[in-house]
Amino acid sequence: MKRVAILGSTGSVGTQALSVIASNPRRLKPVLLSCKSRVDMLRNQIQRFHPEAVVIERKEDAAEFRREYHDIKVYCGASGLDEALADTDFDIMLNALVGIAGLKPTLAAIKKGAEIGGISVALANKETLVTGGRLVTEAARKAGVPLVPVDSEHSAIFQCLQGNQENPIKRIILTASGGPFRGYDRERLSAVTLGDALQHPNWKMGRKITVDSATMLNKGFEIIEAKWLYGIEASRIEVAIHPQSIIHSLVEFEDGALLAQLGNPDMKVPISYAFSWPERWATDNRALDLIGLRSLFFEEPLGEGRRSLDMAYRVLRESEETGHDSGSIVLNSANEALVELFLAGKIPFLTIIDTLERILDRHESKQIETIGDIFEVDKEARRAVARRWK
Ligand code: MG
Repeated sequence: MKRVAILGSTGSVGTQALSVIASNPRRLKPVLLSCKSRVDMLRNQIQRFHPEAVVIERKEDAAEFRREYHDIKVYCGASGLDEALADTDFDIMLNALVGIAGLKPTLAAIKKGAEIGGISVALANKETLVTGGRLVTEAARKAGVPLVPVDSEHSAIFQCLQGNQENPIKRIILTASGGPFRGYDRERLSAVTLGDALQHPNWKMGRKITVDSATMLNKGFEIIEAKWLYGIEASRIEVAIHPQSIIHSLVEFEDGALLAQLGNPDMKVPISYAFSWPERWATDNRALDLIGLRSLFFEEPLGEGRRSLDMAYRVLRESEETGHDSGSIVLNSANEALVELFLAGKIPFLTIIDTLERILDRHESKQIETIGDIFEVDKEARRAVARRWK
């Protein structure tokens, strides 16, 4: 029985993770659940799954939960999450938080793994690696804590690498659906609404990542994520638009062989694999009908989405040439602030990409040595956004 801590249990990945757990009651037990504001959903999850501990963002909610549940430990806020991770006995931590908020808990789980062993991190929070890629992957390697990706593309690569760990990777090809605005030019993009941006053609996801998919920044972040997870140069990571989202990504080896992982788009498969690895367990994923599909097609990323990818390549090139990792933190945190403004209806869609480029142009890169350095750059980037858009 694997004991699972789920950070962000009421979000899109969190709820799908619980449904994977519900299908494997003899293999998985959720022991810790955390949520931000969907406390009623958390109440339902408590009733169904009986966790040992929960973490809630707001003090008032935590106080209520303490009155309601006497046999569950209730923690509150970011410091409460830290305590909960220290106090609770778990084998897998699924990090399904949104944004840079996921960074510290990942490091906390790695630290715990270094001390007691037997812990793995199932990583759905890509911002952990975008902002802290070097620190996090080094700490995980030293601690012997596996980082098992939940992001569908990186899970695909991880699956293709099983049995190939010793073979050098020649090239990674990340596939991208292209989001809801594939093929749109600047003029058409200047007229899109928040509602349009939240309609992803293939994947059902949370709001932040859905907007990131529309700008293609999500794929930019995935390039950065792949660089740190698989330790290869950015120039060996390519992106192909694949609107059907059937091939989840590919790896090419030295002999020219390309391995790919395919399937109908369903996050329950990568979530299940992160829990079952190195085994595979049954899921309710619909069988892929190859004959029905007839063909798979691909396109080159162009237009405004290409600009987002180029920003990711640019900060990685800088990191590889100078050892300065601050650019990717700026990219992450300015984007978080801009997406919040877009979701609040305060800025138009294209302003996200335009402002990001401008902020990146003005940023003077620096070396990142500590977690404190990361949060300093994070604050600076958010201030740069706030100065432009109050
Ligand atoms: Mg993805």
